[in-house]
Amino acid sequence: MNPSRNSKSYECCIIGAGPAGLGAALELVKHGVTDIVIIDKNKTVGGLARTDILDSVRFDIGPHRFFTRNKEVNKIWHDTLGEDFRSVSRLTRIFYKKRYFNYPLKPSDIIIKLGLLESLDAIFGFIVAQISRKNETITFEDWIIRKFGRKLYETFFKAYTEKVWGIPCNQISAEWAVRRIKGLDALEIIKNSLWGSRNNGIKTLASEFDYPVLGAGQMYNAICDRLLRSGAQLMLDSRVVRFNRKDNIIQSVDILQSDGGEIGITAKQFFSSVPLAHFFQMLEPEDASRINAAAGALKYRDHITVELQVAREAVFPDQWIYIHSPDMQITRIANYNNFSRAMSQDNRKTALSAEYFVFKDLGLWSEPDKFLIDLAAGELEEMGLIKKCEIEKAWVVREPEAYPIYQVGFQEQRSLLKSRVEEYLNFYSIGRAGMHKYDNQDHALMSGISASRNYLKSEGSPYAL
Ligand SMILES: Cc1cc2nc3c(=O)[nH]c(=O)nc-3n(C[C@H](O)[C@H](O)[C@H](O)COP(=O)(O)OP(=O)(O)OC[C@H]3O[C@@H](n4cnc5c(N)ncnc54)[C@H](O)[C@@H]3O)c2cc1C
Repeated sequence: MNPSRNSKSYECCIIGAGPAGLGAALELVKHGVTDIVIIDKNKTVGGLARTDILDSVRFDIGPHRFFTRNKEVNKIWHDTLGEDFRSVSRLTRIFYKKRYFNYPLKPSDIIIKLGLLESLDAIFGFIVAQISRKNETITFEDWIIRKFGRKLYETFFKAYTEKVWGIPCNQISAEWAVRRIKGLDALEIIKNSLWGSRNNGIKTLASEFDYPVLGAGQMYNAICDRLLRSGAQLMLDSRVVRFNRKDNIIQSVDILQSDGGEIGITAKQFFSSVPLAHFFQMLEPEDASRINAAAGALKYRDHITVELQVAREAVFPDQWIYIHSPDMQITRIANYNNFSRAMSQDNRKTALSAEYFVFKDLGLWSEPDKFLIDLAAGELEEMGLIKKCEIEKAWVVREPEAYPIYQVGFQEQRSLLKSRVEEYLNFYSIGRAGMHKYDNQDHALMSGISASRNYLKSEGSPYAL
C-alpha cells in the first residue's frame, strides 16, 4: 500500500454494511458512540440481504423472508419500517419429477402425487428408520434418514441439498440440518398439515413471514439512514484488503477504493463481517502456516441470481419454488410480485429470479451473462412457467461466498480460527461469513448487537458470539 495514502481515525471501524455490521452500529449509536465508520465493498448497503434496483424493478439476492423468534430483533424490524413491514401469507412448493409438491410437506399431498407404490415405499422407509435408529448422526444424510427414512430423504432432500452445497449429502455435516431444519421431523409435518404452524416455532414450517414493501434491502437502507443522521460515516465501494496488527492489537485496515485510491483507517475497535478465512488471509497471523491451512480448509458456496422481468401480470402463485429435479441446474425460483406488488413498478410485469449455486473457480460462474440468461429462460420454459419470448429484460448478479459450507469435520478448523480471533483484543468477527455460520438475518443482526454490547461492557456481557 502506498505510504503517502490518506489515513483517517475513528473510535469504531465496522467492516460490512450487512445486517451484522449495521446491527453493531445500531447498538453503538444507541449508547452514544457515534465516531464510527462503516465500510463496504458493495455500492449499496444490506449485504446479502440487499435489494438491487435494476431498471426500476426490485430484486433481492435470492428470496429473503423476515422471520424470527427473537423479540428484540422483531421489534427493531417493526420499529424501523412501521407500516412498510407487512405480513405475507406463505405459499412455496417443490418441483420434482415434473410435479409440484406442497412445501411444507403434507402427507395427503405426497400420497396423491407420489402414487400408492412410492408412498408405501416412503412409509416403509420411515418405519425402518425408526426401528433401526443409528445413534451417531455425523452427516446430513444420517440426520435426515433417521428422521424421515431413506425414500423421503431421496425424494425431498438429497438432490436439492447437493445442488445447494455442491458436495454429496454424506459429506455435509449434520450440524447444517440442525441449523436449517431444527425441530423438523415426520411427526411435526403431520401436525403441521393438520393444524397449521403458527405457534410451533419451526422456521421452515412458518405459514407467514414479514417483508418490507420495497424489498429486503429497504430495511437496511432505513437502518443506515438512521445511523447517518446520528453521525456515523459510510464508505461504500471500498474494499478492505489488509488488516495491520501489532502483536494482538489490530491497528488499522488498508482500503482499496473503486477509483483505485487507497486509504487507511485506524480505530480503537474493529468489527468485521469479512469471511473468517479471508480475515486471516489479509492479516499476517503468528503461526501463519497452521492458521492459513485452517483458513484454506473453510469453504464457501457462491451464488448466481438471474433476474428476469417477464411481460405477464401473474406467472405463478408461490413466493418461491424449490427445484429438486436433479437433471435441472436451477435450484430455486422466486416471484417477487408475490412478496410485494411494489417490487415490480409496472403492474403488468413480473419480477422473477432464478438461482444457481456454484463454485467460482468452476463451471457456470465464469460463463457470460447471456449464457446464464438463456439457461434460466430454458429451464423456466421447461417447467412450463413462462415462454422465453415473454422475457423483456434480464440481469445476472454474482455473489461470492454466499453460503459457508458445513462439510464433515469443518468445526475443527472453525474452532481453531475462532479461538485465534478471540486473542485479538480489539477485534470482533461477526455475522454469517465472519463466524462461518449458516445464519439468517436475525442471527446476523444479533451477532453485531452482541459484539457491541461486549465492547460497551453492557450489562450481561460478555456475550458469546
Ligand atoms: C440466496 C440467499 C437467500 C437467503 N434467504 C434468507 C431469508 O429468507 N431470510 C433470512 O433471514 N436470511 C436469508 N439469507 C441469509 C441472509 O442474507 C444473511 O444471514 C445475512 O445477510 C447475513 O448478514 P451479514 O451482515 O452477516 O453478512 P452479509 O449480508 O454477507 O454482509 C457482509 C458485508 O460485508 C461486506 N464485505 C465482505 N468483505 C469485505 C471486504 N473485504 N471489504 C469491505 N466489505 C466487505 C460485503 O460486501 C457485505 O455487504 C439468505 C442468504 C442467501 C445468500
